[in-house]
Amino acid sequence: MTPTPVTPTPHIAVLGSANMDLVAYVAKAPRRGETVTGREFRTVPGGKGANQAVAAARAGATVSMIGAIGADTFGAQLRSSLEHSGVDTDLLRSVETPTGTAHIVVDDEGGNAIVVVPGANGTVKGLTPGDEALIASADTLLLQLEIPLKGVLTAARAARRHGVRTVLTPAPAQPLPDELLAATDLLLPNEHEAAALTGIADDPRAAARSLLAQVPEVVITLGAEGSLYAARGAEPVTVPAPRVTAVDTTGAGDTFAGALAVALAEGRPVPDALHWASSAAALSVQRPGASASMPCRKEIDAQANGTPS
Ligand code: AMP
Repeated sequence: MTPTPVTPTPHIAVLGSANMDLVAYVAKAPRRGETVTGREFRTVPGGKGANQAVAAARAGATVSMIGAIGADTFGAQLRSSLEHSGVDTDLLRSVETPTGTAHIVVDDEGGNAIVVVPGANGTVKGLTPGDEALIASADTLLLQLEIPLKGVLTAARAARRHGVRTVLTPAPAQPLPDELLAATDLLLPNEHEAAALTGIADDPRAAARSLLAQVPEVVITLGAEGSLYAARGAEPVTVPAPRVTAVDTTGAGDTFAGALAVALAEGRPVPDALHWASSAAALSVQRPGASASMPCRKEIDAQANGTPS
């Protein structure tokens, strides 16, 4: 049921974070003052901005990433990993501040504790003329909240000025200024973020209705339950997620965001776009890792058509 795209390859701009995740696997996380011996250590490219950029590029778009990394080893590794997935990093600035890091302790019960040090991401407070020109030339701008709000708002307003669709993932959850919502075309929270923004828990339809007072379109992702689309003046649509066995849901939301942006920019009808994005996310949860688990377009098409390889 994959329709033929009606536009050529879409161009997606992403403004957001790039982090190196430093992950220690332990039986039990240390308490204050305690030292424990870990079993394994991994460095994994992350950051919601970089993850969404990789997801959209693998899904078939031309993708440009705007953000900042440090002039250090982690920064070089992040740049090369983005480029490896086909993301254009010309506007990913190298700055004096160290690359952002996430220090993650994962215990044997799958629980985790995370310290994020934004580092270079914290320097993205505005746009250069080159950034704005890039945004103006894109079909869609993807935004999240792991860089300063000022940077997000400046970019959303620039996109609005140039008639570019803005898709905002409001994560990590925090109160959003009215000016940012006014420059957002599609708000894409998960259930928890939607509840945090509206104060309405356990009722995504009601949460979506409430958000529609401030943005014209809302998609709430519902984990294994799929996703809900709502727009002003229309009945909400729920699209179920494919039934799969999840081994690691890290990055599922970012995979969904990247694929959804591509599908909508290609002009697919909303239910098809949600089905395609759910197919991408369902593939990602069956493999470990965040960006490492993100599927390519061929795999997404096969999953969406019911013929997963
Ligand atoms: P979440 O951020 O947990 O709402 O997940 C984002 C998207 O990933 C969902 O809308 C689903 O499309 C997909 N997803 C997450 N968890 C699962 C799962 N257990 N099975 C299938 N799809 C999932």
